[in-house]
Amino acid sequence: MTEQNIQCPRCGHQNLPDSRFCNKCGAAVVSDAAAAPVPPPQSASAKAIIALILGLLSIFMLGFIAGIPAMILAKNEEDEIRRGASPVAGEMLAKLGFWLGLIGTVLSGLTILLLIFFLIFGLSFPIIFSCGF
Ligand SMILES: [Zn+2]
Repeated sequence: MTEQNIQCPRCGHQNLPDSRFCNKCGAAVVSDAAAAPVPPPQSASAKAIIALILGLLSIFMLGFIAGIPAMILAKNEEDEIRRGASPVAGEMLAKLGFWLGLIGTVLSGLTILLLIFFLIFGLSFPIIFSCGF
């Protein structure tokens, strides 16, 4: 590929490939490479963002109700990113959504186990204590 001279948009003077301003009239000239539209930065897909939001919800209030869909969505999104079907920008969000969802699910699972534990054994504690006295 050979570098081409840049034609001044104002006066038509052929300028050297590296020039930024026209040698003849001083107008700003831009080479084709620089003028080529910059591809817009890919932002994370909605799915990755939703996975993260669900992950956060599962930590802060909804537990596994949001945590399980967060994990499923995040895994799904990671697969799509690997296949190139989704923007890589969402990878961190999806990963974060997955782990938050997992933590939220585990925490809510433990809470439920604890509640069941107290429902079964908690009620008998006063009896045990009253027998001790
Ligand atoms: Zn010029």
